[in-house]
Amino acid sequence: MPDCVFCKIVKKELPSSTFYEDEYSIAFLDIKQVSEGHSLVISKKHYENFFDVDPVVLQHIILSVQKVVQRLTKALGIAGMNISTNNGRPGQEVFHLHFHLIPRRAGDNLMMWPATSMSPEVLKIMAERIRKFF
Ligand code: 5GP
Ligand code: ZN
Repeated sequence: MPDCVFCKIVKKELPSSTFYEDEYSIAFLDIKQVSEGHSLVISKKHYENFFDVDPVVLQHIILSVQKVVQRLTKALGIAGMNISTNNGRPGQEVFHLHFHLIPRRAGDNLMMWPATSMSPEVLKIMAERIRKFF
């Protein structure tokens, strides 16, 4: 994709702090750090997101995510990591498949999502609606 910022990083047309590369993916530090060491694992090939990625390629990439997480936690000396992926709007800014690796540290007070408790009755109705699509 000519105008895709992550494709440009893969092709080294834009600078990045890439610290890992394999056949299917690369990992580098996010330019905006949610916490110290916040990294992205992205596909080398352009896919918009989780919805359209080839399932076989996805298997390789998720294994790369695991490998990077195992090493990154050691490198940073931490035990916790949030792994997330934004897909579609709202939420996704760069439409090239990527996983956020967000290091967690005790007392960081990072709030990933504000959450609301729901009654079992409401959850039951919601699950019934969703189940029709499986
Ligand atoms: P999302 O699409 O999941 O909302 O976020 C895309 C992420 O890519 C953001 O956290 C943003 O800071 C990061 N990002 C966007 N452009 C660049 C870039 O040129 N270099 C790096 N290292 N990160 C980028
Ligand atoms: Zn791209």
